[in-house]
Amino acid sequence: MKNALPGPKSAAYVARDAAVISPSYTRTYPFVMDHGQGAEVWDVDGNRFLDMTSGIAVTATGHAHPDVVRAIQEQAAKFIHMSGTDFYYPVQIELAERLVALAPGATPKKVFFTNSGTESVEAAFKLARWTQRRQQMIAFIGAFHGRTMGSLSLTASKPVQREGFGPLVPGVTHVPYGYCYRCAYNLTYPSCDIACVDYIEKKLFKYYISPWEVAAIFVEPIQGEGGYVVPPPEYHPRLKALADKYGILYVADEVQTGIGRTGKMFAIEHWGVEPDMICVAKGIASGMPLGALIAKAPLMSWPPGAHGNTFGGNPVSCAAGLATLRLVEQEYMANAATVGAQILHALQEMMARHEVIGDVRGKGLMIGAEIVRDKASREPTPALRDAIVQRCYERGLLILPCGGQSVRFIPPLNITPAQAAEGLDILARVVSEVEQGR
Ligand code: PLP
Repeated sequence: MKNALPGPKSAAYVARDAAVISPSYTRTYPFVMDHGQGAEVWDVDGNRFLDMTSGIAVTATGHAHPDVVRAIQEQAAKFIHMSGTDFYYPVQIELAERLVALAPGATPKKVFFTNSGTESVEAAFKLARWTQRRQQMIAFIGAFHGRTMGSLSLTASKPVQREGFGPLVPGVTHVPYGYCYRCAYNLTYPSCDIACVDYIEKKLFKYYISPWEVAAIFVEPIQGEGGYVVPPPEYHPRLKALADKYGILYVADEVQTGIGRTGKMFAIEHWGVEPDMICVAKGIASGMPLGALIAKAPLMSWPPGAHGNTFGGNPVSCAAGLATLRLVEQEYMANAATVGAQILHALQEMMARHEVIGDVRGKGLMIGAEIVRDKASREPTPALRDAIVQRCYERGLLILPCGGQSVRFIPPLNITPAQAAEGLDILARVVSEVEQGR
């Protein structure tokens, strides 16, 4: 580091920001970005950091990838906007063709373009009600689906996200997720026989809501903001079978897990399930604002005017999206699997050495570690987690918290093994220091 953090220029920007920017943002440490390249970023004071956040799982191809920059520049020089709601343009059609070809399952699909994750979820919420003519939704405790009113009604990650905003959209029931490390039923996998899915049929549908009034189940293949929770192998197939039994749509929220992040194009492919709808955003265009709802074609039968937007499928974002998909398919998805395995293995070894790392889990480059008082009690220790995140920043490693007591590692999909090792070294030193109270 060239200076104590934050450096003088960073500190000045943070002070200016406080005067004019909404205090609702959740900045964890005062990193003020100047520029980035791949998995490396520099702050305005000239300090270099390793980025294991990807701007919250967004910069799939790293910062300023030349292919993505070129695609953006070329499209911007042709035209920047025309609105896909009222006009046609090739780049939007081409991206939709790629997405439906890549989506899991044989059923033909169609795409509705948005600008963000929450809008993709809103579109799914509305399409589910429209096509099903049913009103109820099922979502999960720990879920994060966004912050607009429909998606916020599905979100159950932290009370602060909902507090003061009610009444939310009625008709959403939350049930426990397949979170084996902290099972809501105090059962143990595999002897539990996936009781968390059975609960929906045996209790919820028996005592509370009719399954025939449920339009959709919204589920993250791996819970993201809720703490990087990977459910067991049987979980999604059992949930999908339950949904099919009652004609309920299975909506996979792949906003954080999708586009190669887990070593497959869509995380749900790890469970062999074909969702009825898939929500994507974040990594799809390497940082240009873009989202999409990919739905089975027969479901997307709403008429002109039923749903639309001004900016969704912006041509510059679509061009970035096509360049991103090319890179992810050709190279970076495989890199996510191999470097992800390297990081997971190293974290598991670290867990064996440190009492405060209670659990390590993930797929590809979507990896979380749960920080606890000690392994026996599993007592959550958010203060220790926050200290680790802060100390990593001071040593030149950017990571983010998730859930009540976890940290997440979501570097760009093209991070090199050497960069991953550098980040893990910093983390190992920080965990030792924090554990020893230094
Ligand atoms: N769904 C999931 C699974 C997410 O992780 C997020 C954001 O973190 C969203 C939806 C909302 O996306 P956005 O912040 O782009 O609205």
